[in-house]
Amino acid sequence: MSKHIISIFTNDTELSRDVRADLRKELVNRGHTVIGEYSPNTDLIVCIGGDGAFLETIHKCNFPECPTVGINTGHLGFFQEILPCDIEKFINDYESGNYSIQELGTVKCVVTEADGNVIEHVGLNEITITGRKSYSIHFDITIGGKQIEKFSGDGILVATSAGSTAYNYSLGGSIVDPRLRLLQVTPIAPMNTTAYRSFTSSVLLPDDMSIGIIPESPEKRIYIANDGEISSYANVREIEVRRSAKVVNLVRFKDYDFWNKVKDKFL
Ligand code: NAP
Repeated sequence: MSKHIISIFTNDTELSRDVRADLRKELVNRGHTVIGEYSPNTDLIVCIGGDGAFLETIHKCNFPECPTVGINTGHLGFFQEILPCDIEKFINDYESGNYSIQELGTVKCVVTEADGNVIEHVGLNEITITGRKSYSIHFDITIGGKQIEKFSGDGILVATSAGSTAYNYSLGGSIVDPRLRLLQVTPIAPMNTTAYRSFTSSVLLPDDMSIGIIPESPEKRIYIANDGEISSYANVREIEVRRSAKVVNLVRFKDYDFWNKVKDKFL
């Protein structure tokens, strides 16, 4: 049986640290190499914690191509596949290749500042674009290069299918089966009055279309969050949101079923 290089990441709870110690011991006993960072030779990334810890790991490793699996230590755990009590079964299944890979798409936004400077952000769940807290923001939205609406409200969120169950869901967006490749544009507190006209529901787009955002007042500060990591900009000329070429390869075992997970976690 071939031996693997396994990178383990964990959040900072006592349970997660205990699980890491047990996992490390078992993997080393079986002849695998365990490291605490990501290397180009890593065969598998294991992330111990909740979805937040999973997102942090993916960002820390800069959206690695190698298979990644999560062990849930008491959080919501949408990305997380394994329970701490199933570590031995997980290693057996991994060693015998008894798993499949779920490829998750990601979303990126390309910010062009007034001076022509360009910055990119990538998200596995979503990108949000908002104004200053408690102030409305106004921008033109284009879809596929065509002007569609003049948005007014707190901002917009563009979710991947995998991110549809996160912030998008709290905003009233739809839950999307991750097998569907699309981008979901969900308004955040849109204004729909005789003064301002914005869509009040989510819009679903094929993931090869791009969304353009042109601020009405470029000098006003704009906040962009990719999976909750916030960056702020003054003097934005334009923002383009589209599918990113990066993907996350999630390890899924035989019992995984997205809709069972939705039922378990939300109903
Ligand atoms: P957090 O604010 O500490 O936790 C947000 C919650 O979202 C956690 O319960 C987390 O699960 C859950 N979550 C993350 N990704 C998910 C997914 N794909 N499906 C279902 N639930 C998911 O922030 P965080 O832990 O660093 O996570 C960042 C994410 O928080 C952002 O990407 C955004 O989607 C979400 N967020 C949600 C709201 C909201 O719902 N009002 C507001 C801001 C941000 P675990 O408990 O397993 O970690």
